[in-house]
Amino acid sequence: MEKLKGVEEMKILVINCGSSSLKYQVIDMDTKNPIAKGLVERIGLPGAVLTHSITSGKKEVIKTEIPNHVAAIELVLKELVSPEYGALQDLSEIYAIGHRVVHGGEKFSKSVVIDDEVMKALKDCIELAPLHNPPNIAGIKACQKMMPGTPQVAVFDTAFHQTMKPASYIYGLPYEYYKKYGIRKYGFHGTSHKYVSQRAAVLLKKPLQELKLISCHLGNGASISAIRGGKSIETSMGFTPLDGLMMGTRSGTLDPAIVTYIMCRENLSCDQANDFLNNKCGALGVSGVSSDFRDIEVAAKQGNFRAQLALDIFAHDVKQFIGSYAAVLNGLDAIIFTAGVGENASNMRADICKNLDFLGIDLDLEKNKVRGEEVDVSKANARCRVLVIPTNEELMIALDTLELTM
Ligand code: ADP
Repeated sequence: MEKLKGVEEMKILVINCGSSSLKYQVIDMDTKNPIAKGLVERIGLPGAVLTHSITSGKKEVIKTEIPNHVAAIELVLKELVSPEYGALQDLSEIYAIGHRVVHGGEKFSKSVVIDDEVMKALKDCIELAPLHNPPNIAGIKACQKMMPGTPQVAVFDTAFHQTMKPASYIYGLPYEYYKKYGIRKYGFHGTSHKYVSQRAAVLLKKPLQELKLISCHLGNGASISAIRGGKSIETSMGFTPLDGLMMGTRSGTLDPAIVTYIMCRENLSCDQANDFLNNKCGALGVSGVSSDFRDIEVAAKQGNFRAQLALDIFAHDVKQFIGSYAAVLNGLDAIIFTAGVGENASNMRADICKNLDFLGIDLDLEKNKVRGEEVDVSKANARCRVLVIPTNEELMIALDTLELTM
């Protein structure tokens, strides 16, 4: 279908499919703001629900049976053109659809327009991301079925990190395992690291090509990336998103011998060990309180020493990565804080930045009180800037989608 429109008329539908959930936004590419967004939860389970809202603040919650991703997409598309809660007159206003895809393996170093060949390659990546890629593929197939003429683009969490060099991404394992199983560091959160690094260049009023940045995506899942000239050269997540920092429920980096030791002692199968490391460790395991940093902060203030310990470990982990990445970058222009904790937790930012003056970091504690805004929170003369930049993965997906389909 030939589509010739000005950017001001263009609307991109962004889809992020999980195994039982689907998040979506329709973004107006003129204003770069969402005009509708929502979440489908409990797909294929009892109690499925769609929560949808539009710019005016109008919100609708629909509880109905949603057996699969096709039904979820069908419901979302119907809602987008609903007379009362819709944001579109007609679905033909959607210029293209951008899908978040977790794992692109080594095949994808940038976003791509989806065709049969890409679909095949996505299926080949399932082994690397058995939990994430199947729902992503289901979402793409559902959109192909419901909106056959509309171009679709895949935007990968891993793509941004494909610029890392072998010395960064090859592990100390027999090299054949890299060839045979694809075991290497891939890195994740790439869309977020890319977005905030581009925004940092705007905020610093310097070309991205000249900047040495460390981007700290600190949410429930957390990763750090060293970015030189707009390219990822190192990142903390690895073969899977379990690696690197201690996270809400994930252990992060461990002595690998601990895994087999616990498996033997606790009699765990491979699946049980995987579940344990992903869901029962991290800040939740240490604090015994919650995986949510807000709850942990409250408990720590009330004197819970394990909660305080979880916060201390997290700040220490982030600091260690900053130090190591400053070495990898051979200098540092700015640190970026983003995602739930990075954008909101000013105490955590202050703890991380404490005693980093050797890097030229000097936080302005007053400015650092900011939450969820794009702000330079360092003192005027600080050599290395500290930036708070709310991430916007949906916008990044929409921008890539537009660029590839215009
Ligand atoms: P994800 O997208 O990985 O699920 P988010 O980026 O939404 O995660 O981040 C969620 C985390 O951010 C939670 O642990 C939450 O406690 C934390 N968070 C959100 N707001 C605050 C705040 N004001 N102070 C401390 N932590 C916060």
